[in-house]
Amino acid sequence: MNDHACKACVGTWPGREHFIADCGLTKAYLHDDQFFPGWTVLVLKRHATELFHLSREERSSLIEEVAQVSAVLAEEWRAVKINYELLGNQLPHIHWHLIPRLSQDPAPLEPVWRVTHEPVRLAPETLASRVNRLRTIWPTHQP
Ligand SMILES: [Zn+2]
Repeated sequence: MNDHACKACVGTWPGREHFIADCGLTKAYLHDDQFFPGWTVLVLKRHATELFHLSREERSSLIEEVAQVSAVLAEEWRAVKINYELLGNQLPHIHWHLIPRLSQDPAPLEPVWRVTHEPVRLAPETLASRVNRLRTIWPTHQP
């Protein structure tokens, strides 16, 4: 898949209204399914599909952004655990799923993909207010 066929590169995914912040190498978005509250996607700003395609510096910065964002999510949702998922089977463009797992989690031993559920899509005003709340506590990116 080249970057012209990639929905992360052409900007059709994730939706603009889900955008939280520019983190440096990545942009953060609230995932469109909020069945697991706080599920966030960290999308690399350039097209790459494997960690070994990145320079050592990019990999270091990427994992630093993953860690900083996860710390914010863990505190905001008082998470028991953060799940870190970098899969790429459906969309190879590097994007991390960062998923707070909470004390009331319906299936705490399962990866989210194995928990059958109806996707929870937030109403536009709820989505906007949650994204705005996250922006107020987000780690500041120093370019
Ligand atoms: Zn891409």
